[in-house]
Amino acid sequence: MNITRSSSPGIRAIEDVYEEIERVVGEEGITSEACDRACYTRDWGPLPTSQEYLPDLVVRPRTTEEVSEIVRLANKYRIPVVPRGGATSMQGGCVPLKGGIVIDTSTMNKILEIDEDSRLVRVQTGLLIRDLNEELEKRGLYYGDRPASWIRTTVGGRISVNGGGAFGPRWGRAIDQVISLEVVLPTGEIIKTGSKVYEPSAGYDLTRLFLSSEGTLGVITEAILKVYPKPACRKVDMILYPKWEGMIRNIGRMLQAGLAPEIMTCHDGTRYRHYIEKKLLEEGRAVPEVAPDVGGILIGFAGREELVEAQRKTMAEVIKEDDGKLGDPEVANLWWETRQGMPFNPWPKTQEKKRFATIDFAVPIGKIGPVFRLYLQLSKKYKLEMYGGGTFHNAPDMFPTLTFAMFIDQRDQAEYERWLKYVEEMAHAAIEAGGTIAGISGVGSIKAPFFKDQYDRSTFEVIRKIKNVFDPNHIMNPGKKFTR
Ligand SMILES: Cc1cc2nc3c(=O)[nH]c(=O)nc-3n(C[C@H](O)[C@H](O)[C@H](O)COP(=O)(O)OP(=O)(O)OC[C@H]3O[C@@H](n4cnc5c(N)ncnc54)[C@H](O)[C@@H]3O)c2cc1C
Repeated sequence: MNITRSSSPGIRAIEDVYEEIERVVGEEGITSEACDRACYTRDWGPLPTSQEYLPDLVVRPRTTEEVSEIVRLANKYRIPVVPRGGATSMQGGCVPLKGGIVIDTSTMNKILEIDEDSRLVRVQTGLLIRDLNEELEKRGLYYGDRPASWIRTTVGGRISVNGGGAFGPRWGRAIDQVISLEVVLPTGEIIKTGSKVYEPSAGYDLTRLFLSSEGTLGVITEAILKVYPKPACRKVDMILYPKWEGMIRNIGRMLQAGLAPEIMTCHDGTRYRHYIEKKLLEEGRAVPEVAPDVGGILIGFAGREELVEAQRKTMAEVIKEDDGKLGDPEVANLWWETRQGMPFNPWPKTQEKKRFATIDFAVPIGKIGPVFRLYLQLSKKYKLEMYGGGTFHNAPDMFPTLTFAMFIDQRDQAEYERWLKYVEEMAHAAIEAGGTIAGISGVGSIKAPFFKDQYDRSTFEVIRKIKNVFDPNHIMNPGKKFTR
């Protein structure tokens, strides 16, 4: 044991708990080595480099029962517990702000059951979305949640922030894939929130309570998920609109025409260019100049070929109503490919120095145009380099969530502070527009100061009471959603 620093619980508690946890997970399942702990101080979001955020212990359990023992001990000694999946959330969600124990779920990555007839799977939540999909594809199935980060993101992380992905128009967001969950509560109790069917009419809907809970109510250890038959044919197209607002309007027209895309990712000109530029350059092709307020849609249809072609034909008509034009099919395929390789594949050069940092949120569809214009203005006001905006559209209504990103050098304190101001202004603009401050990657610590601004006093009181019922000692992921 090598404990060099104590956090809020005090060194004695950490030493005591180390030995007790070691008895549960074995020597290989726990570490307090400084170099190991250093790997758990960040996620993909920007955080000031002046702060360390070292956990006291990192634990790698293999079973729900082990998690239960760890959490029970943490609760006894009042030690913070931070569940960690793939660390791809961009809001500081799995960062141990107050030290304590990081539960690394990467060792809980088993597929426990695949029921092809019922089209469901039971998995441990440290499983990567890509690995789940690989197994499913062998059986002619696939998973309906496909974030650009699927190579590194876990089932547990997806559920805990409730993100959206490329297959959103057909299958919805992370929440829509979940049938029920197994959760370890902060007391160590293990609960199951439902059965093998998602049928909440008996209420209360405990499953949904844990969706988007960001590790603040317990550790989700298993999930029963829906899966879908892999389509025989899939074709992707790209459409460019001269204005972002025209793109948003045109999606409504597609709905009206009865089109049912499987894939949809929408970007502004800046983001679209980032996606395609590296591959085009590699192939010696010119990268087109694209104005920032251009709207680009990557759209895909799936199913029997005749149905796919019929829909593409109608789409080609509908897009004209907002001056949309079909783009080069090769670039469309490249965009789709790049989207799935992110960020470990082609990535703009700037990322080597700066980190891409996003605020994601949601506003009513009619307000998307004005918040996009605000984004363009704020990048100038705060002198931040734009990475670009995007929308994800989700079944059954295609209502979108938004992501507006910048490149941030987190070592530059002044730039980091300007970024925080940008986040604050965007978060409040979303609330004023009748929306919410989180769209795909949760509230985390970055947006925690604005979490309560979304609610009136009585409503926030109910939310606080829910937290207190589950986690009276506030050991679960402190500093996330709530500032304390
Ligand atoms: C390049 C890139 C592209 C991205 N593209 C998309 C995209 O297309 N769509 C999208 O929605 N998001 C996207 N994201 C955001 C990100 O992938 C999501 O936020 C993701 O769902 C986080 O999952 P994770 O496994 O990495 O979780 P982590 O980042 O490890 O954790 C996220 C939160 O969940 C909690 N948590 C994790 N596991 C558990 C568990 N088992 N029980 C309880 N709490 C838990 C953590 O404490 C934390 O609060 C992208 C991110 C990157 C870096």
